[in-house]
Amino acid sequence: MTPFSILLLPGDGIGPEVVAAAERVLRAVADRYHHQITFTTGVIGGAALKQGRPALPDETLVAARAADGILLGAVGDPSFDTAPPAQRPEAALLKIRRELGLYANLRPARVWPGLESAGPLKPEILKGTDLLMFRELTGGLYYGEPRGQSDDSAHNTMRYSRHEVERIARRAFEAARLRRRRVTSVDKANVLETSRLWRQVTTAVGKDYPDVTLDHMLVDTCAMKLTYAPSSFDVILTENMFGDILSDEAGAVVGSLGLLPSASLGDGVGLFEPVHGSAPDIAGKGIANPIGTIASAAMLLRYSLKLEDEAVSVEKAIETALIAGLRTADLAAGGASVSTTEMTERIVAAL
Ligand code: NAD
Repeated sequence: MTPFSILLLPGDGIGPEVVAAAERVLRAVADRYHHQITFTTGVIGGAALKQGRPALPDETLVAARAADGILLGAVGDPSFDTAPPAQRPEAALLKIRRELGLYANLRPARVWPGLESAGPLKPEILKGTDLLMFRELTGGLYYGEPRGQSDDSAHNTMRYSRHEVERIARRAFEAARLRRRRVTSVDKANVLETSRLWRQVTTAVGKDYPDVTLDHMLVDTCAMKLTYAPSSFDVILTENMFGDILSDEAGAVVGSLGLLPSASLGDGVGLFEPVHGSAPDIAGKGIANPIGTIASAAMLLRYSLKLEDEAVSVEKAIETALIAGLRTADLAAGGASVSTTEMTERIVAAL
């Protein structure tokens, strides 16, 4: 049996703490399901800059391309706040996404049991929310040319090709098959030509997935519906800028930043990371919430290693720990809280 190889990129701030927690969980999964997983660790972000190397050293990129999955903590270090953009830790993120051709960004937003009151919505509205946002990550307005600014005007270009829409649409339909088999494609087809192409292509791709229901929704309607009926969504598929905005909105409706995982996928290796940053204010204190990273590790099992049962068992173990009442400080609302390690060990015990 060929062992799976996972590259760990702890990065900065709380990154090393939460990545160690997720590694502990992945090792326990490997033991329980008799998989061989080899772990290697690479440097990225401020941790690399402090060694006098670029934020994304070549050696890290080579290791990334060779891995079956990459688990990243976070990058960002206040001591580089005044450095030029290319010499800041965050430059590593843009570069690794670009170099690995990661065109699909997946952000699940679900309400975990016992945390129905953690977000800003009424618990009865939030109840049952479990959606997966598919955001196109390498095209659209953020990358389109021409772009420019003069004294009196500025312009950007939103451009999509059939190929760009088709490849992410296929991934969204495939993902829906592992879920409740429903895709909502979000666009602005009443105004934008790119959205009309988006709608044509997603409709055509949908014909190859007759077992998945496809509907189309305008982005403004989607933004509203996320606040009054978030539980009505399964997979949301959308272009880069709409997804940037809607995925933050969806994350906010389900509550704490420390709980949110993400995956970025291309045609090769995938990158998995919590949505939060390096949280320098709590780094080194042992109180960071590891769940966003552990849930990202579950996504790595699901989407890169194709180990669905193992992914589900990690998600269920997180649920068990939360149902048992365990809360890290960010979730405790002033009540009793546990450390990063205690939360991790309870999740491992529940596996
Ligand atoms: P942040 O996400 O690091 O922190 C925001 C707030 O949430 C802080 O109060 C922090 O303590 C809290 N928080 C975040 N994650 C937590 C966790 N797991 N458990 C408990 N509390 C948690 O955002 P920020 O403060 O705006 O940024 C800090 C640094 O991180 C900056 O340098 C920024 O550029 C970088 N950043 C990196 C990424 C990334 O690596 N993908 C994403 C966002 C920000």
